[in-house]
Amino acid sequence: MTDLSTPVPAPVTIPDSGLRIGGRTVPAQSGAHFSSINPATEEVVAEVAAGGAADIDAAVDAARDTFESGVWSRMPGAERGRILTRVADLLEQHAPELSALETAEMGKLYADTVAGDIPAAAASFRHYAGWADKIAGEAMILPDVGPQHRFGFTLRQPLGVVGAITPWNNPTVVAAWKIAPALAAGCSVVVKPAEDASLATLRLADLLAEAGVPDGAFNVVPGLGPEAGAALAAHTGIDKITFTGSPAVGKTITSLAGEKFRKVTLELGGKAPQLIFPDADLDASLPWIAMGNFYHQGQVCAAGTRVIVHESIADQVVEGLVEFARNAVVGDPFDPASTQGTIVNRKQLDRILGYIEKGRSEGAQLVTGGSRIGDRGFFVEPTVFRGTNDLTIAQDEIFGPVATVITFKTTDEAVRLANTTKYGLNAFIFSQNLSTVHSVIPQLRVGTVWVNGWGVPDPALPWGGRDASGIGRELGRSGLEAFTEEKTVHLGY
Ligand code: ADP
Repeated sequence: MTDLSTPVPAPVTIPDSGLRIGGRTVPAQSGAHFSSINPATEEVVAEVAAGGAADIDAAVDAARDTFESGVWSRMPGAERGRILTRVADLLEQHAPELSALETAEMGKLYADTVAGDIPAAAASFRHYAGWADKIAGEAMILPDVGPQHRFGFTLRQPLGVVGAITPWNNPTVVAAWKIAPALAAGCSVVVKPAEDASLATLRLADLLAEAGVPDGAFNVVPGLGPEAGAALAAHTGIDKITFTGSPAVGKTITSLAGEKFRKVTLELGGKAPQLIFPDADLDASLPWIAMGNFYHQGQVCAAGTRVIVHESIADQVVEGLVEFARNAVVGDPFDPASTQGTIVNRKQLDRILGYIEKGRSEGAQLVTGGSRIGDRGFFVEPTVFRGTNDLTIAQDEIFGPVATVITFKTTDEAVRLANTTKYGLNAFIFSQNLSTVHSVIPQLRVGTVWVNGWGVPDPALPWGGRDASGIGRELGRSGLEAFTEEKTVHLGY
């Protein structure tokens, strides 16, 4: 395994930026391409082939042919598992190269992509490699029907062709959460990566091929969302669409999928509450609370940017966040000395600055930060507001380093504030009191609760939300079963 402790980042090695379809690397049929921009320098990283509807057709056809051939879908599970284990090994070996691509395109700290994202993606493949030969149904003896005995069982069969539309913020790991279980189940996959971060997914396709995933079982069509993305979501040849991105696009995808009665899994972001009770161990908790706001510049669906704290300790929590924000080294994401990288693109930068302005104009108290840093690259100061839960900055997912600290007096009020949101992805609880922790957990309308910590979802447990945070679950057993069709058999004898 590669030594990931080295502080020297790998050079950015651009893979062939053509589409990966049926085991071949090809240009877009239209010849179109788009520029991928380095958000730290505003320079072009690469020109990437921009797939369109015709390319999506070709990729779905290749995926369908491979699926129907059985070369992957009917390969013994243990064999599929061996190949997925090789994918995990290759991801670990190529972590520096993949991390450099991610950082160059979307500005996350290289230190975090190399030590966090790519190992987490590898862990997903390793986890689902173990499932590939353990996909089983249920069996039971049923009541007799007249003189006939009955036996019932269920089969879990691969769904077929899966379309996956992925986001830019954690491109390899979120792709892995979809690709690894889909492939473990025996499905074929077509991925449309985000236009801000396609290169690592293209490289991933090469590594999957090297590991032995057959041609056509895995295809990548980079392109613009409203073109390649919409064509994939609307395609009649897919059996399921799995999407991570914004609620607005999630709605479009759901209606397209609904029209064709196709399965859909959506992960659409959040606005997680961090509930901090008076008995929290603040020394141990403050680094988590700060990370929950500022890790990856807040460009994380699980970010906890509503800091809902008991009034008796609110000043201490604000001081802790301010100290973190003022000590942050915001700069070149490849520089090991940086603690914060860039915002992904100019549009997001402007959106974040717009929200900060909105916070001010709605009367929130700006405690620290609030401005862009420099005029080259999309850098923003970690920002802390004190305010109330009804402010726009406390209700909308900003996807930037902007915390809003809100106070409560009673546990009931804390729960009510936590649940007063359109989102329902995750929540944090900081408390040393088991009774508080256990009584609050069931009351929170979210898919995941972190108690006294935070981090990357573990591949062994489900991840997903409710309400505007999405539909369905990824990861864990649920994340695998989401790529299977359950068939019930009633057997008379
Ligand atoms: P963000 O605002 O974080 O970029 P989006 O929801 O816009 O999130 O993008 C997430 C993914 O959805 C990207 O791969 C993007 O290209 C894709 N996408 C954007 N618009 C559409 C669309 N109309 N149909 C299908 N996919 C889309």
